[in-house]
Amino acid sequence: MEPKRLVIFGRQGAGKGTQCDRIVENFKVIHLSTGDMFRAAVAAGTELGQQVAPIMESGGLVSDEMTIAIVRERLAQADVVENGFVLDGFPRTPGQAEALLEMLGDRGLTAVVHLDVPLAEVTARMKARGRADDTDEGIAKRLALYDQETVPTIDWFSDRGLVLTVDGLGSEAEVTERLIKAISSASGG
Ligand code: AMP
Repeated sequence: MEPKRLVIFGRQGAGKGTQCDRIVENFKVIHLSTGDMFRAAVAAGTELGQQVAPIMESGGLVSDEMTIAIVRERLAQADVVENGFVLDGFPRTPGQAEALLEMLGDRGLTAVVHLDVPLAEVTARMKARGRADDTDEGIAKRLALYDQETVPTIDWFSDRGLVLTVDGLGSEAEVTERLIKAISSASGG
């Protein structure tokens, strides 16, 4: 069977981390998180890590050029080509989205999954978990950034008929079931 090539979007607090794990278990795809890749580069003290560390600390975005380069290299590796992937945290801009489709060429994407949880619900969930950085102001700021930064990228994929919106409300198991159904029936755009 053709491996799944997926992108997942979801606000903080939407349950994206857990559902990514379920997608990996179910479809045997490789989880690719650009945030994890950058954090690994910082921890290893590579040249890339030294370049991105101050950007990450300030909460800004790494340049499209550097981000696209790191993804391009990883997507070309045999394990990813053979097993497929679920991209998490990339693309974050329409420029990155365009580069992604260009690098996949005829293989294309199977689907772009949008795990949809209303703003009021994710705000309530984040407040309930009570982390130190989850002040009302911090929560509002991070959620606003998602609307500014990520929503235009989801729209970019919607225009190309690739987005599967999955209702993220309900129990973890219910959401997993919806996701698996949606992805299983996706044929790519
Ligand atoms: P994350 O774990 O996805 O929140 O990513 C942590 C940090 O890595 C972000 O705040 C950005 O500085 C950087 N980063 C991760 N993915 C991207 C991306 N696709 N484009 C630009 N910067 C990114």
